[in-house]
Amino acid sequence: MELHDRLQRLLDQHDLLCGVVLSNTGRELARAGDFGALDRDGLLSTLLGPRGSGRATYGLMQPDEKIRPALMEEGDEFAFLELIDQTMVVVFGRERKEGMAHYLFSRQVGATILAEFGAEAPVPIEILSPPAATPENELCGCPPGQPIKLMQTLTYNPIHCLQCNQEVRPETLALTPELMQAVARWRDVYDAIDRLWLDGGDYETWAEAELSNLESSVNRQGRQLQASLNRLRRCYYYGFQGRISAAGLCPLCSQAMIALKSGPAHQLLCEGCSLVFFRPEAGPGIPANA
Ligand SMILES: [Zn+2]
Ligand SMILES: [Zn+2]
Repeated sequence: MELHDRLQRLLDQHDLLCGVVLSNTGRELARAGDFGALDRDGLLSTLLGPRGSGRATYGLMQPDEKIRPALMEEGDEFAFLELIDQTMVVVFGRERKEGMAHYLFSRQVGATILAEFGAEAPVPIEILSPPAATPENELCGCPPGQPIKLMQTLTYNPIHCLQCNQEVRPETLALTPELMQAVARWRDVYDAIDRLWLDGGDYETWAEAELSNLESSVNRQGRQLQASLNRLRRCYYYGFQGRISAAGLCPLCSQAMIALKSGPAHQLLCEGCSLVFFRPEAGPGIPANA
């Protein structure tokens, strides 16, 4: 089974946000989950860069480590690290449980990591093989007609369910061939910039500015597509790492946004601008059912 699939199953089983499998040189062999739900300057930066690096993270844990998996935390984010042969599994979550409950949770996750990755060491060559299709059980299974959002997250289909965050089957929307092509074209451009951001180094600052500026070319195109998709079904556009004020106001129109909890993620919606942002935790914003 694909490394990515095992990682995703681990995340699903324990309601974790995202994770990676690192080689012993710190190279990413697989990643799964929603990295947009993490603070880019938080634990993600410490463990995978730019503040830290995968290589340094791999070195954090000794093979004879007593506390397994190793626990890391920063703000309200936490991570568990476990070594399997010459690879390291790192998974991220938010809203840690208190004291002993968190430790017991880490042990449960550790047991699943061993069950998923221990029996058969991951094969690094998988990274050079074509990606597998998103498994059926990872597609949106919500009742028909739920709102959607245009959000590219390293996969092929950038149309997600607002409620469950999973990919929405494109065939459930009456997409014209032209709109399908436009979505695919936008996906490729957004994905290219997103990967430059993830790669860190020289491109990172530029890529981050392009993704976070709602007036950049890629975001203008994305918001036009959102408007087209909105004619088929209520659709929002995902704002990358939105710089939301403490009061939870929309960065475009300065109106108060609506708070929405979906799965492990908290979101803020601007109905007027059709924007959706992830936010770290329950905070400002008008509750959706208020
Ligand atoms: Zn759904
Ligand atoms: Zn707005």
